Amino acid sequence: MASEDILVFLAVDKEFTSMDAIIKSLADFFQLKASKDPTDRFNVVFFLDQGPVFLEDFTFQYQLLVDKLNENKDKVAKPNLEGGLFIALTFILDIYKLVSGKYFRILVIRDASMPPITKDFLVNGLLDKVSQMPVFLDFIDVGVYQDDDEQKILNMINTSRGGELMYVTTFQELEDALKRQAEKKEIEVGLWDKGPNFDMEYEHKRFFEDLASDLQPVEQVTGDMKCTVCFQSTSPVCGTDALVQCPACKTPFHDCCLVSWAEQSNIGIGHVFRCPICFYLIDLPEFLVQDILNGKEESYEGFESFLEEIDQDALLMERDKKRELDLVQKELDF
Ligand SMILES: [Zn+2]
Ligand SMILES: [Zn+2]
Ligand SMILES: [Zn+2]
Repeated sequence: MASEDILVFLAVDKEFTSMDAIIKSLADFFQLKASKDPTDRFNVVFFLDQGPVFLEDFTFQYQLLVDKLNENKDKVAKPNLEGGLFIALTFILDIYKLVSGKYFRILVIRDASMPPITKDFLVNGLLDKVSQMPVFLDFIDVGVYQDDDEQKILNMINTSRGGELMYVTTFQELEDALKRQAEKKEIEVGLWDKGPNFDMEYEHKRFFEDLASDLQPVEQVTGDMKCTVCFQSTSPVCGTDALVQCPACKTPFHDCCLVSWAEQSNIGIGHVFRCPICFYLIDLPEFLVQDILNGKEESYEGFESFLEEIDQDALLMERDKKRELDLVQKELDF
């Protein structure tokens, strides 16, 4: 079952719903979910007067989120549902560039104080863009009896990889609903499990190409700088001496040496794949990948690669321990 990054969006008004009860339920939820899979990570979006805030990255340390919520519970302001969802999806896109193989989940806890939904088209537009990614959307409505927005919410859920709309009226029911939400998501239909080179629609393909970062040329190659794939100065694949580097971790490669890696690990578009060292989403020119795979470039077969598979979860946990995450705030234009 895939490791999950889950973002809880608190669409509740403190004048309307007890923040203490919500925070307690969430703390139990995080604890339960982490006990089922310690590789799952967490985040929370909520609103202050200045706008939406969330932790700058997903974290394994859910207690940090509980602390941040407790620190801010008296300052929580009335949220904007569409705005919060927009922020949540934009954040997930940023994280998607950094991590591989995760399922992303947005869990909205909404109370009856929310104004009617009017800008769902903005949310659906983004949901459609990420529809080739495993993004799930669930809603728990707390004490919402008469809901004119039900159809709009169901449409949003259907535009995502799936999810459900649950209704609860008591905090005991909220706890029960969260217990159910602590279960893993499975994708029933979808391209995601088909692995590299599945057939993707043109517009979605363009979206991922734009999302991926280009490798950067290494301007000054120092004496001991070697390609991380072949460990030589001259590529056995295409004979180049030029090195490119991952924009995130600066690891050097020959671009043509990376093609074999791209072939095994692309995200469904042959030239869009992840850095073998830090998992950042990168791309190579499409023609380069095609030429090498079509055998126009010689001696592609049979060169030795020095790449080793890296355990992403271990890497993420190591990184998470070393840093102090803080809340970040986003401006909303609507
Ligand atoms: Zn590009
Ligand atoms: Zn090389
Ligand atoms: Zn990298």
